[in-house]
Amino acid sequence: TEIKYTQQNQTVSGKQPATVEVAVPLPLDTTFHYRVPEDLAPRIQPGVRVFVPFGRRKVTAYVLRFSTPPEGQQLKGLLDVLDPEPLWTEAELTFFQWIADYYLHPLGEVLKTALPTGINLQSRSSVDGEAVSGGKKVRHERVFSALPADAPVKLRGKGLDILAFLRQSGSVSSAELKVRFGECSPNLRRLVELGLVRMSEHEVYRDPFAGLSVTKDSPKPLTLHQQQALTTILTALDSRYFSPFLLHGITGSGKTEVYLQGIAHTLAAGRNALVLVPEISLTPQLVQRFRARFCDGIAVLHSALSDGERYDEWRRIRRGEVRIVIGARSAIFAPLERIGIIVVDEEHEASFKQSDGLRYNARDLALVRGQQEQAVVLLGSATPLITTRFAAQQGKLGYLSLPERVGNRPLPATSIINTRMTAESPLSPQLIEALADNLERGEQSLLFLNRRGFASWLVCPACGADLQCPNCSVSLTYHRQRRKSLCHYCDYQVPAPCICPSCGELELKEMGVGTERIEHELLEQFPGARIARMDSDTTSGKGGHARILDKVGRGEVDILVGTQMIAKGHDFPGVTLVGVLQAEGSLYLPDFRATERTFQVLSQVIGRAGRGELPGRVLLQAMTPDHYGIAYAADHDFERFYQEELLFRQELNYPPYGFLAAIKLSATSEKSLTSAAEQSAAVLRSIKSRLGLRVEILGPAPAPLYRLRGRFRQQILLKDSSRAALRRLLIAYRREQSLPATVRMAIDIDPVDL
Ligand code: ADP
Ligand code: ZN
Repeated sequence: TEIKYTQQNQTVSGKQPATVEVAVPLPLDTTFHYRVPEDLAPRIQPGVRVFVPFGRRKVTAYVLRFSTPPEGQQLKGLLDVLDPEPLWTEAELTFFQWIADYYLHPLGEVLKTALPTGINLQSRSSVDGEAVSGGKKVRHERVFSALPADAPVKLRGKGLDILAFLRQSGSVSSAELKVRFGECSPNLRRLVELGLVRMSEHEVYRDPFAGLSVTKDSPKPLTLHQQQALTTILTALDSRYFSPFLLHGITGSGKTEVYLQGIAHTLAAGRNALVLVPEISLTPQLVQRFRARFCDGIAVLHSALSDGERYDEWRRIRRGEVRIVIGARSAIFAPLERIGIIVVDEEHEASFKQSDGLRYNARDLALVRGQQEQAVVLLGSATPLITTRFAAQQGKLGYLSLPERVGNRPLPATSIINTRMTAESPLSPQLIEALADNLERGEQSLLFLNRRGFASWLVCPACGADLQCPNCSVSLTYHRQRRKSLCHYCDYQVPAPCICPSCGELELKEMGVGTERIEHELLEQFPGARIARMDSDTTSGKGGHARILDKVGRGEVDILVGTQMIAKGHDFPGVTLVGVLQAEGSLYLPDFRATERTFQVLSQVIGRAGRGELPGRVLLQAMTPDHYGIAYAADHDFERFYQEELLFRQELNYPPYGFLAAIKLSATSEKSLTSAAEQSAAVLRSIKSRLGLRVEILGPAPAPLYRLRGRFRQQILLKDSSRAALRRLLIAYRREQSLPATVRMAIDIDPVDL
C-alpha cells in the first residue's frame, strides 16, 4: 500500500488524474473505474468505501486498488470517501476476490456480506450519547479520575465525597458515579474546573457477555492421545506453513482442551486465533471456557448481537485489540490479522453453509483463509463429514485421533428398541421403565425427538383432508399450548383446533408426535418429575437457550425433552440416560446426505450420556433398527459407517467422488418458473455439447420443498468429477441465460441442502 500511496501523491501533483477500481454491491460481474478528484486524493486508499455516481443513482462502492485509467474513456469522479481508514487489508481483499471467483458471486456483494450490518447505519444525528462519526454509531462514555492535587478548603459535601471516592478507585464512569451519588454532573464539572479531576471520553463496547463472572482456569494435564495430537499441532504451528488437520475425537474425548492449548501456543508466538462454531453451540458455556483460560482479548460474534454490538466487535478486531475471535459462520470474515490457527468445531455441521445470498461454506473457507495466512487449521468433530474423512485418508488433511473419552469413561451402552409393530404410544414400555429408574436414583435423562410442536398435523377423520400451509408445500404443525397450527417454514398460523377446511367436520384428529406432546405424556406418567423442554418454541429470545441449559447444569431438571438443540456439544455430567424417539425420522429425506446426517445426529445425542462420574446408557427407538445409519451409530462405529457410506457415494458419483453445483430458480408464478427452468436446462445442455463437457445435468426438478413462502422452486443439479468443468459450464450459463425478471436465479456451489 505504501508504494501505491506514493504513486498516488505523484499523480495528484502532476500529469494525469488518479483513478481507482471499485466494486459495487450489485449483481454485476464487473468492476468499475472512477477518477479521484484532487481534494479527495489524500483520503483515498484501497479498502475504503466511497460514494460514486452510478447510472442515475449514487451508490456506496469499495475501492479495490489504484488503476491506470482505461484509454480514451471519460471517467466520472468520486463524490466522497466514507472511511478514514481502510476497512480491509490487501490480504483480506485477496481472500474476498477468491470467494467471488469460487462462488461466482459479484465481488461487491461479497464485500457487503463480509461487513457487519451496523457499519451501514447512516444516522446524522447525535442521540443520547451516541456520537456519529463518519456515518458510524459509536457510544461514548465519560470516565473520571482524580488528579494529584490538594483539595481546596471550600470543597464540601457531595463534591468532597466524590473526590475521596475517585482517589480510592482510579477511573470511574459517569454512570457508576450516578448510581452511587445520584445526580452529580454539577459537582463533577466543578471538580474538573478546580483541576482536581480529569474527565476523558471512552468508547464503550456493548459486551453481550458482560457481567458473567469467570473463574480463572489453567491448562489440564493431557491424556496420551490429547498429548500426541497437541504435539503434532505445535510442530505445525512452529513451522509456519499451512497445515490443515482433521481432529477426529469421539464425544467427551477432550477436543476443546486441545484447541485451548493449541491457541495458547499460537498467542504466545504472537499470532491470533479464529474459532468457528455452529451458531447453536455458541453458548455462554462455551465462551466461558475461553474466558476462563484467556481472560481478555476475546471477541464473540453471534446472531443475537444487535447491529451496534456486532459493529463494535468488528472494530475492536480491526484495531488489533482482539487476539481470539469466536463466532458462527460469518466470523470467517472477521478482520483479524496474523492468524496462526483456525479452529472449526463440529466441522460436519450444515449450518456453516449460508443458504441464501452469498452461499459460502465457512468450513471450506477456513481452509482457504488458513492457506493464505500459512496457518494451522483444525477441523474438529466426533462425526466428521464423509468428505473430510476421505481427504484425511488421501493425505490432504493430517489425521489426529482421540479415540477414547477423558478419564477412561466408557461410551454409553446403547440398545435399539424396534418400534415397528408397537407404534401405539410414542414412549415404549422399556423407555418408560428406564426413565422411572433414573428418577428414582435422582439421575438426569434426555429425550430427543427431532420435531417440535404437539402433533405433526391435524387430519379430518371425515374427509381425510389435512391442514396445509397456503405458502409452502408442507402440513401445518399443531401446537397445543399456543393453540395454533403453524408452518415451520414461513410461520403462517391459524388458530387451532379448527374445523376442517374442506368439509366442516368439528373434531380433527391429531397425527404424529412432537416434543410438546412428549412433554405432556411425561407430565402424566411422572407427575412429580421436573420436566423441561428445549426447542425453538421454548428458547426464543436472547438467553432463552442458556437459561434452560443452566437449569439442567444445576441439576434442577430431571428430564429434558428437546429437538436437535439438545444434541449439540453441551456437557451435562449429570445425564446418565438418553432416549431417542423415531431414530429413523430423518433417514428418508430426499437428500443423498440423509443417512450421513442421521448418523451424525444420533452419535451426537448418544454422546450426551455418561459424561460425568456415572456411566450412561442409551435407548434408541426405531422402526428400522437394522439400517446402517442407525446400527453403526448405536455401536459407536464411525469407521464402519464411513466405509459403507463411501461405497454408496462412489456408486452414484456423489462427493467425495464427484462435485456438485445447483442452479436454483424460484418464482411466484408456477408457469413462468417451469418454462424458465426448462429454458435454463436447454441452455446448459447446449453449452455442454459445444464445450465437449461430460457434466451430468439433472433436472430441472421441483425442490423437495416445492413451494416455500409463496414461491415455487425448481432446481437443476450439476455433477462432475472435475470442478473446472462445472465452473466452465456455469460461467457460460451465467453469460448466456436470459431469464424473465420475475424469476430469481441463484448458483449454489457445493450445495448442502438439495
Ligand atoms: P469434546 O469436545 O471432545 O466432546 P470436551 O472438550 O468437552 O470434549 O471434554 C469433555 C470433558 O472432559 C470436559 O468437562 C473437559 O473439561 C474435560 N477434560 C478435557 N480434557 C481433560 C484432561 N486432559 N483432563 C481432565 N479433564 C479433561
Ligand atoms: Zn409456510
